Amino acid sequence: MKSADIRQAFLDYFTRQGHTVVPSSSLVPANDPTLLFTNAGMNQFKDVFLGRDKRAYNRAASSQRCVRAGGKHNDLENVGYTARHHTFFEMLGNFSFGDYFKREAIRFAWEFLTVEMKLPAERLWVTVHVSDDEAADIWLKEMGVSAERFSRLDEDNFWQMGDTGPCGPCTEIFYDHGADVPGGPPGSPGDDLDRYIEIWNLVFMQYDRQPDGELVPLPKPSVDTGMGLERIAAVMQGVHSNYEIDLFQALLAAAAKATGTSDPDAKSLRVIADHIRSASFLISDGVIPSNEGRGYVLRRIIRRALRHGHKLGCEKPFFHTLVAPLAEQMGDAYPELRTQQARIEKALLAEEEQFGRTLAQGMKVLEQAVASLKGTVIPGEVVFTLYDTHGFPPDLTADVAREKGLSIDEAGFEAAMEAQRQRARGADAFANDYSDRLQIEGETTFSGYELLDDQCRVVGLYRD
Ligand code: ATP
Ligand code: MG
Ligand code: MG
Ligand code: MG
Repeated sequence: MKSADIRQAFLDYFTRQGHTVVPSSSLVPANDPTLLFTNAGMNQFKDVFLGRDKRAYNRAASSQRCVRAGGKHNDLENVGYTARHHTFFEMLGNFSFGDYFKREAIRFAWEFLTVEMKLPAERLWVTVHVSDDEAADIWLKEMGVSAERFSRLDEDNFWQMGDTGPCGPCTEIFYDHGADVPGGPPGSPGDDLDRYIEIWNLVFMQYDRQPDGELVPLPKPSVDTGMGLERIAAVMQGVHSNYEIDLFQALLAAAAKATGTSDPDAKSLRVIADHIRSASFLISDGVIPSNEGRGYVLRRIIRRALRHGHKLGCEKPFFHTLVAPLAEQMGDAYPELRTQQARIEKALLAEEEQFGRTLAQGMKVLEQAVASLKGTVIPGEVVFTLYDTHGFPPDLTADVAREKGLSIDEAGFEAAMEAQRQRARGADAFANDYSDRLQIEGETTFSGYELLDDQCRVVGLYRD
């Protein structure tokens, strides 16, 4: 079954169950400074869950484009290392706004997987929140799920979109990819090893988390579910890794051709194929590469991809040539990729030309630092020089370090950054005074950007 057919089958199934199909919203969240990028299908319904907004429907379904490259849900560091993570992916979801709750949500998901998709129940594993007897009973007694493939977990089964906002206990469905893949069942040692891959998360939205951590009950218990299209496609197409599904075939081949590599299995190709998706979709949703906020996350994604191209021996701009095969692959579902192709290519090429001037030199500096390294930690000063002089975002340096079994001194880098900030402050008291005044004049607008900026500073350095 092709990804496009799975997407359609999902929306058709939930239409039959009385859901209204709602188009994907932008990757740039509307009016939500707490959120870097759209990271789940429920984002566009946040205010409906909170009872601040009303819709003409109380059941909805969508296929939502998502980016997880910063903020609460950050998978940037997982790309290239796991079979299941992308920075850009599509989340299939069904939602109930004060309408159905646990029983129907579980029944719909189980029916979609076992009847519509005809997946064997023996391959499906289920987890619920430790406290959730009600969901446990529905699974075990009503759906007939075997207790052998069922467990109760704590943090993993409590979902929240960010540090504040809608949240609640959840139940997750995993697919067992078989004994030839290493890994243990959910909640056991080795459960991060991708044998048992989480495919669907059903969240029982019950609370609104406050900035001080308090959980305030929502006006009406609701349901929010999310299933990664690429993960269910891997299951349906009988492959283990998301990167082996139809949507990625042409992109990986194009990346191999564009970089001129002779190794079609190179991990770097997967990173590049992933990053062309997130970079292109972000640009088409209006993000422009820059040195702050969302634009900086985009720039970091692009630079990581370029570094992987360099690693494959590619010295010329190549990344922008992958927009055409992407538009070919996904243009039917997302026509904006076609209408904006030229704009996206231009923005990427400009980034390639700019970073191309310092990338090779920076890699030399890094290689030398590694060669003379005592221990396994790259000093903060080196990370800082690479950042300051060669335009290497620290997460990019960390990515190189990780490939060599090394890490970077994050605290040392932060200290070097701080020292530079101090120097800048001392050197230009006037500018400082001016920016203070600006902050006061534009207080409300500025606080939003500051929040984003803070998130960006830590994304890539620390995982969630
Ligand atoms: P994981 O534990 O595998 O990182 P998650 O629990 O963080 O996944 P959720 O926040 O529950 O994921 O998102 C709902 C669904 O979206 C997941 O069950 C999965 O199918 C899909 N998904 C989540 N993150 C990614 C990603 N980075 N790439 C592809 N699909 C994803
Ligand atoms: Mg995750
Ligand atoms: Mg999970
Ligand atoms: Mg989950």
